[in-house]
Amino acid sequence: MFNFRFGRRLAMSEENYDFPPFRPPSEADSLLLRVTRGCPWNRCAFCPMYKHIKFEKRPVQAVKQDIDTAKVYTGGNVETVFIADSDSLVINTGEMCQILGHLHAVFPSLTRVTTYGRALTLKRKSLDSLKKIRKAGLTRLHIGLETGSPQLLDRIKKGAGPETMIHGCNKAKEAGFEVSLYVLLGIGGESSWQEHALETAKVLNQINPDFIRVRTLTPQPNTPVFQWWREGSFQIAGPETILKEQKTLIEGLSVTSQYLSDHVSNYAPVDGNLPADKTRMLSLIDTALEKLSKDVAFRTELEGMRYLRRL
Ligand code: SF4
Repeated sequence: MFNFRFGRRLAMSEENYDFPPFRPPSEADSLLLRVTRGCPWNRCAFCPMYKHIKFEKRPVQAVKQDIDTAKVYTGGNVETVFIADSDSLVINTGEMCQILGHLHAVFPSLTRVTTYGRALTLKRKSLDSLKKIRKAGLTRLHIGLETGSPQLLDRIKKGAGPETMIHGCNKAKEAGFEVSLYVLLGIGGESSWQEHALETAKVLNQINPDFIRVRTLTPQPNTPVFQWWREGSFQIAGPETILKEQKTLIEGLSVTSQYLSDHVSNYAPVDGNLPADKTRMLSLIDTALEKLSKDVAFRTELEGMRYLRRL
């Protein structure tokens, strides 16, 4: 079984490959290399990924063979790699360093190697281990914060409260990683959007990540959030609420981070460097809110986006 492919295109046959592969949009052109399969936590209430996969660590030798095979397919011309699946840092530090060492030896032109990581795993890992992994060539961690609200983190079963998020992410920064944090707009629904925005800003301010990336919640079938919505205990936040939530979040931020709406789920292209672009970003949201209040066609378009996403 081959366990690598490219973000946008197939490197080889899909035979025996779990589909679809999950990776951040920013890794669309990266070589995807599986060090583990599935998610060792697999309980987040909004998450449909890896539900059919039993988590397993892949043998180091098998991963190295995939790296060698990838070289044959690429001619060695690879600059960025995303290590999959979710939270591969749970594997032994020595094994991760062996894999990274082989990866860099086979692809000397690598400029970026990234992976998903959970804050709890980072908290549990020693600083010394994280520094070793960073030195071996892992450069960036993509971490799901989702929200800074303790109540919401508990409700969505994230398995980490605000303190763990702050501790784990700051340890990763201290070890030298670039930290890319994901915020899930709408996870508070219509009722808790303010709490979500204010508490998330507080946590982000205590981490000051390199990147803040927002996604807008679209409840997916076979997830608890979808079930809450169908039962009526969760009301999906509409476009106005999402925009107000995003405005409150940005207003509360005192970070020096790159803020990105780099996902198809979002209503508005709110991107920029904070704090330099804060005024422009807030003004873009105000313009969208004003248009939403006056322009029926615009409202229909945004509502349509929500409908299409649900499809
Ligand atoms: S969001 Fe991440 S940590 Fe949570 S279940 Fe999904 S893959 Fe696992």
